[in-house]
Formats: sequence, structure tokens, C-alpha cells
Amino acid sequence: MKKLFSIFGDPVSHSRSPLMHNSVFTHLHYNACYTRTHLEDGTKLKETFLALGLSGANITVPHKEAAFHACDEVRGFANKVGVVNTIIKEGSKLIGYNTDADGFIYAIEKFHNIRTILIIGAGGTAKALATKFIEHNLNIIVLNRSDSRLAYFKELSCSAYNWSDFKLSSYDLVVNTTSAGLKDEELPAPKKLIESILDNTTYVADAIYGKMTPFLKIAHKKNIEYKDGADMLLAQGVLANELFTHKELDKKNIQKWMQHSFQL
Ligand code: NDP
Repeated sequence: MKKLFSIFGDPVSHSRSPLMHNSVFTHLHYNACYTRTHLEDGTKLKETFLALGLSGANITVPHKEAAFHACDEVRGFANKVGVVNTIIKEGSKLIGYNTDADGFIYAIEKFHNIRTILIIGAGGTAKALATKFIEHNLNIIVLNRSDSRLAYFKELSCSAYNWSDFKLSSYDLVVNTTSAGLKDEELPAPKKLIESILDNTTYVADAIYGKMTPFLKIAHKKNIEYKDGADMLLAQGVLANELFTHKELDKKNIQKWMQHSFQL
């Protein structure tokens, strides 16, 4: 029987996940189809997943923390952070995983001598990245628009600031994990602050993919080496697809066909 998968998010129309996963399924004759579901209310995730008869799903902005609560069981790193981006149905249970953080670690492999990272944003993606970076013994600083989500990072022993109490230092890498720039032309923090931060970093990365965000435009103007979120998307997608197909497909083929879908 054909298996059905979906990505849930708000917004979700920008997502390349359907193209990536369908490209793999088609080329490897795996009997499955991957669609997208616009979900405004994260508390409706489980009932929508079950009503659609899905075998698995990915979760994107802003529902990754809601996805953690929607699962009957959460495994591995996702349990540590309380953030889920991949769900698999096992029997009648929804099982949650997180493949974002490993995806990002893979994506920044080509950046050298990374010791100190400034993460802008404090949502689900920031939590996953900060927790993974701390596991790698990196020095992490977090900057967010509001205070309400900073407690998690302080407990992790990161330095965590809002826009007004921020203390500038120097960084090897600055990562934008906010959704500023995703469907608008906003910067993740006031322009003056972003300018001074980027004057004090070697590398820049944005979790947003498929567009030159205002944040990346400033990095480009300052001749800083940067990357958007495409490699992260690819790497988390490969890991998610392995979970969807229970490793029935070869990882090299998954990566090859996902990469191919970027040209479609
Ligand atoms: P969340 O909704 O969990 O968190 C959003 C964060 O962005 C919060 O810290 C929020 O601040 C901040 N924010 C939102 N709007 C603004 C704004 N206008 N100015 C400044 N800060 C803002 O989202 P996620 O962590 O799930 O996703 C964040 C981004 O990362 C999305 O753009 C998503 O597409 C991208 N992403 C890409 C991936 C990839 O594979 N390339 C994987 C995962 C995510 P506050 O706390 O003050 O509300």
C-alpha cells in the first residue's frame, strides 16, 4: 500500500521538503508520496496527522515544540531538547525524532576553527542547535528579541541576551535561526546591532534557505563567508528519509536524489 508523508508548518508553501522526498521515492521506486499541510494551530497536529492517514511527517516553523508534545514517545536527541522535526507512526503510536541539529553540524563542516557561536533566535531550531553545540564543547551565546525563551539557554550555561542587554564580543560563526526574512524582508535584530555583530565574526549562516535574506545580504556586502540553510535542509532531510523508509534505501542515493531535486 502507498505510504503518505507530509510536512506541517505555518507558513509551509516555501518548503522544498515535498520535492526532496518525492524525488527520492520516485527514483528509487519506493511506493510513497510526500505532501504539505498548512497547520495554524499546533495543538491540532496529532489529530490532523491521524486524520490524513500519514506514515510519517516533518514539522517546521513554528510547531516543533508542539510536535514534541503531540508524540506518544520521543527518542534520542529530541528528548534532550523537547523539539521534534520528524514523526514516524509505529503501530498506533507517534514517535518523535530531531534531525535538525545533526543536519546543521554536517552543513558547517567546511567552516574551520569554530569555537564560539552566536545564535540569533531562541525558538525550536535555536534550542536544538545550542544543545548540540554544547555537546561538542563549543562556547554558545544567544541573542533573542524577547526574554521569555532565554531561560532554557541560561540553564544550558550559554550566555543569553535580549536586544537591549546584549554584550558584543567576537565570534567564529553567527547563525540566524529566527524566522525574520522567511516571508518578509526583516532583519533578526535592529540593523545597527546586526552590523556590529557581523563586523566581529568570521563566518555567517542562515537557517532560512532558497532566498537571499536581508541578514545574508549584509554578510555578503561585508565580504564574510556565508551559507544559507540549503545544506542543513538536505542533511536533516536525508536523516528523516532514512527514518521514513526504515533504512531500506541507500543513504548515498537519498542524498543524490535530494540534491537533484534542488535543480527542479
Ligand atoms: P520558532 O517559531 O520556534 O522560533 C522563531 C524564533 O524567531 C523566535 O526566537 C522568535 O523570537 C524569532 N523571531 C520571529 N520573528 C522575528 C522577527 N521579525 N525579528 C526577530 N526575531 C524573530 O521557529 P523555528 O526555530 O522552528 O524556525 C526558525 C527558522 O529556521 C525558520 O525560518 C525555519 O524555516 C528555519 N529552519 C530551517 C531549517 C533548514 O533545514 N534549513 C531547519 C529548521 C528551521 P521571539 O521568541 O521573540 O518570538
